[in-house]
Amino acid sequence: MSLPQSENQLEILLDAEKIQRRVKELGAEITAEYRGRPLHLIGILKGSWVFLADLIRALDLEVTVDFLGFTSYGDGQSSSGQVKITKDLDSSIEGLDVLVVEDILDTGHTFQYLRGLLSRRKPKSLKVVTLLDKPLRRINPVTADYVGFTIPDAFVVGYGLDFAQKFRGLPEVRVLHLTPEQLAEVRAPAPR
Ligand code: 5GP
Repeated sequence: MSLPQSENQLEILLDAEKIQRRVKELGAEITAEYRGRPLHLIGILKGSWVFLADLIRALDLEVTVDFLGFTSYGDGQSSSGQVKITKDLDSSIEGLDVLVVEDILDTGHTFQYLRGLLSRRKPKSLKVVTLLDKPLRRINPVTADYVGFTIPDAFVVGYGLDFAQKFRGLPEVRVLHLTPEQLAEVRAPAPR
């Protein structure tokens, strides 16, 4: 797939300094809530690992980490909620305080599916932190327990988020203006 714009032409939505400041605040908030209790983080591959790497260093808690990967199938504009696991958790979460680390909450299909899947595994508690929230696109009425930034309805890349596996390494979050055809392609069945 040809890339629509080069990275430094893309408008910056959230600069690196703003992201780092907010991640530290989230770390402090989560530390205060779980103080004295071990916390099990589950990063959703692949978009959340940059956020998770910074967040874990902002937590003053005993923390363990696992990752979950899956493929979601879309209809050209959004994920549909039809999901296949590509990397399951390495260990049981039964009886643990679990915090799911997401990159972005969009239609809510993914989180709806994840919440069902993970609650059936009987964690002691299950919460979610998302770096970005796009409430204007929500179809499933789900909310995150911790939100880094609420953003408008735009397709964003950087800080772990990709377009066709590109732009993940950008330290900031930028807006990518996609044609409807490119949006359809990026939402086609593919590993996230
Ligand atoms: P949902 O199931 O909530 O619609 O979709 C969430 C997933 O869609 C995210 O975890 C992410 O992989 C992808 N996604 C949604 N919006 C964006 C966006 O603006 N940029 C990128 N790169 N991925 C997005």
